[in-house]
Amino acid sequence: MDYRDYGTTGKKISVIGFGGMRYAEPRNIEAMAEITVAAAKLGINYFDTAPWYCDDKSEDILGTAVLEMKRQKLPHYISSKSGANTTDEFWKDLERSLRRLNVDAVDFYHCWGVNRPETFRTRNVNKVIEAFYTAKEQKLVRHIVASSHMSGQGIKDLMADGVFEGFTLGFCAINFPFRIEALHEAYQRQLGVVTMNPLGGGMIPDHPDRFGFIRTRLDQDIVEAAIHFILAHKEVTSALVGFRSVADVHAAVRAAESYVPIPETEISRIRTNIEGQFDELCTTCMYCDGCPQGIHVHRYMEAYNYYMLYGKDTDKFKDRMKWHWNDEDYAMLEKCTECGLCEEKCTQKLPIIDRLAHIREFLKK
Ligand code: SF4
Ligand code: SF4
Repeated sequence: MDYRDYGTTGKKISVIGFGGMRYAEPRNIEAMAEITVAAAKLGINYFDTAPWYCDDKSEDILGTAVLEMKRQKLPHYISSKSGANTTDEFWKDLERSLRRLNVDAVDFYHCWGVNRPETFRTRNVNKVIEAFYTAKEQKLVRHIVASSHMSGQGIKDLMADGVFEGFTLGFCAINFPFRIEALHEAYQRQLGVVTMNPLGGGMIPDHPDRFGFIRTRLDQDIVEAAIHFILAHKEVTSALVGFRSVADVHAAVRAAESYVPIPETEISRIRTNIEGQFDELCTTCMYCDGCPQGIHVHRYMEAYNYYMLYGKDTDKFKDRMKWHWNDEDYAMLEKCTECGLCEEKCTQKLPIIDRLAHIREFLKK
């Protein structure tokens, strides 16, 4: 297992991180903790969780694993999150996480879901950010970090505030144009970057032929290729993988261990393919930004990828809007004047107006 510096924190993090959001049987705490400890034995030392993950059992599972990791002296760093908008909520969140996780301090405590600039402003005005610093002074939190689904530019702006020592963000072979700017900025500022969702929400392994171009070697399987693509970015400290079994852990560790630096020409080829071959898919490049009606076109188009790739399944679209974009404000769709500005700017030349109309239609059903 390779380890990379998490920014300037002095901590070296395994290039594969344990994502505690996909435990298969969350109520079976002991069994799930065993999977977690197995990962630590294989060299994974970064464990990410949050309240509410896995029926709100993820922190309990990790806390059970932490006791065993301490007993076996297995190195581990714990990451959890608070999406509090008030200081009262913040302290309740932190107290509960410390108790469940069986730790004196959370190593990487996330200001969770800073998905809009207003979210950060509200938490700042409400003194939640101050509370993060107080918790750090009290040695209850070791590093203040954030998670966000904003665009690369949005996250870049957040970095300029200088509050956070690192970021957790979604980054994979499909959506890289959407976030690449944030990665470059993080590298310049020497911030840690932990990526979520390396397999594009399962979209990459579910469509191995379509995404075959991300392979850089003949013997690579598609999951390995997706992980290698992320590790090829020096800006990334660790790629979180959600594990459901010990076999999943072994597969990801094997992928990390078989990684050899990918030449820049290969990375460029993959990037070109992503834009070139996704002739009918949105790459979340955000060039369509700036709709006069305030419609977040890229969100609908990205979620529409799921509709198309999963056999015209409208639930896939709705799930993506709800869980990834936290956006179910479908009334916005009615505001489209069909001005065509977004279509003119779209790098993929997608029929955005028709797709928006189609979305309106199936949402009414
Ligand atoms: S066509 Fe509709 S979504 Fe596109 S820019 Fe115009 S109003 Fe916005
Ligand atoms: S709709 Fe077109 S321009 Fe907008 S994010 Fe998707 S690919 Fe890019």
